[in-house]
Amino acid sequence: METENQKDCEKLEANAAPFASRLGDWFDAHARPLPWRVEPSLYRTVVSEFMLQQTQVTTVLPYFERWMARFPDFRSLAGAEETAVLKSWEGLGYYSRARNLHKLARQWVAATSKPANAREWQQFPGVGPYTAAAIASIAHHEAVAVVDGNVIRILSRLSNDGRVFSGNSEAVKRLTPLAAAIMAGAGRPGRHNEAMMELGATLCTKTRPQCLLCPVNTYCAGYQAGRAEVLPRLRRRQTRSREVQRALCRHGGNILLQQYPADARRLAGQWELPECNFLGLSPVNGACLLEKSRGIANERIREQVFAVELSAAQQTRLNRHPELHWVPLEKLDGLTLSGPHRRWLAELLAPAQK
Ligand code: SF4
Repeated sequence: METENQKDCEKLEANAAPFASRLGDWFDAHARPLPWRVEPSLYRTVVSEFMLQQTQVTTVLPYFERWMARFPDFRSLAGAEETAVLKSWEGLGYYSRARNLHKLARQWVAATSKPANAREWQQFPGVGPYTAAAIASIAHHEAVAVVDGNVIRILSRLSNDGRVFSGNSEAVKRLTPLAAAIMAGAGRPGRHNEAMMELGATLCTKTRPQCLLCPVNTYCAGYQAGRAEVLPRLRRRQTRSREVQRALCRHGGNILLQQYPADARRLAGQWELPECNFLGLSPVNGACLLEKSRGIANERIREQVFAVELSAAQQTRLNRHPELHWVPLEKLDGLTLSGPHRRWLAELLAPAQK
């Protein structure tokens, strides 16, 4: 069935080579000098792609530099203890990425025949189609297109695609053939993919795309139709709201923290301020010291931390729980705290430590 933008797609596909050439020239002249681009290697590409999954470049930069100083290659990462790997990842979130990257390094070191294309990379832990395409095109020059949220946005605008997609995965599925057709016109696959990502991150942004500065605006049907900003059309996901109450319990120079078991499905081995519910302390009887709001996937979470004084009986009961530990304040730096807990603890403990 012919879609409303069939002609725009065909025009774009016919112009794939000049489009890719103009985009590539713009990338060469304007790309941000990111460390994995300035000094590229297979290992640096793999690490940067893992870190950049669901995380912005500015957040990744300091982590990347520290990571390279600590684990400069696959071998050093493969030989590291998991606790050291997670500690170096602390604050980047989505820790399964760190675990998978660690496993990947071990698998890569052990492999007698190293992966050399996107299909082979997908056999490695944590490597989905997007990451595999990015690694294979950048490190092995394979002509396979990356398609993520940024690329969906660019392609739907370039082809003036007004279809309503049920979500990112449907859009990826529908737009992958167009991405592949344009890739066919590109001389250097890695540079083309990086240029698409750079365009999405810097000019073809979610809101207020800078079309006048865009190197490919003459090929952009969405811009010419005056509706770039409303594309792509993705069905809105419903956001759920949730409230979490946590306890700050202090005893001498110690605070009570929960460490998730090593085999837990979420947050394995990591530390958090315990939830009041988990401690059997709801409703909470204490002052609210801190209130934060954060979003994880399609959840909006309101987090409150209460000052809780435990009775002797409560302490005795909680001391018996294997996941709860009284941690001396001076040992906090050595623990891997989950998500924003280190920041919260710094705020909560700052006045007391002055
Ligand atoms: Fe995006 Fe505008 Fe460039 Fe089209 S012209 S690709 S909408 S920045």
